[in-house]
Amino acid sequence: MEFMREFPDDDSCLEWLWRNRCSEDGEHAECPKCERLRSFKKYPTKQRRQSWTCTGCGHHLQPTAGTIFHGSSTSLSLWFYAIHLMTSTKCGLSAKHLERELGVTYKTAWRMLNKIRNELMAQDDDLKLSGEVEIDETYVGGRHRGQFAGLPGDSCAVTSLA
Ligand SMILES: [Zn+2]
Repeated sequence: MEFMREFPDDDSCLEWLWRNRCSEDGEHAECPKCERLRSFKKYPTKQRRQSWTCTGCGHHLQPTAGTIFHGSSTSLSLWFYAIHLMTSTKCGLSAKHLERELGVTYKTAWRMLNKIRNELMAQDDDLKLSGEVEIDETYVGGRHRGQFAGLPGDSCAVTSLA
């Protein structure tokens, strides 16, 4: 429900990309042509996915440029929903499952799944833990002495990364 509230349609997905990839305040962005921060406006066009136009030079910025969504005929809201499902499902998601959830063909579901897994999630490799990693509240097993500090009934959540 929270996902649906935040991303009810394609426009909200595009706006999210715009604010997260190009413009923090939703209005100003670095124009590659002017080579400085400019004010951008989204003019209504017949384009399916609108772009933002530099008010200084007329240069168009497309928030999907360089992403796995660019040039895809699948709607942004379906892509976002697929990513939401894949990242919120602990045990992994099959293309068959995605096909059912999104109401797309198996071929489309399979292609989306692979793009998200191999291109989008692969970019997170930089975020993997490296160097000195501190782990606290580790409970490995052995004899039980005194009270266990974890949450009652939550035996999975005994390890947290600091
Ligand atoms: Zn410009």
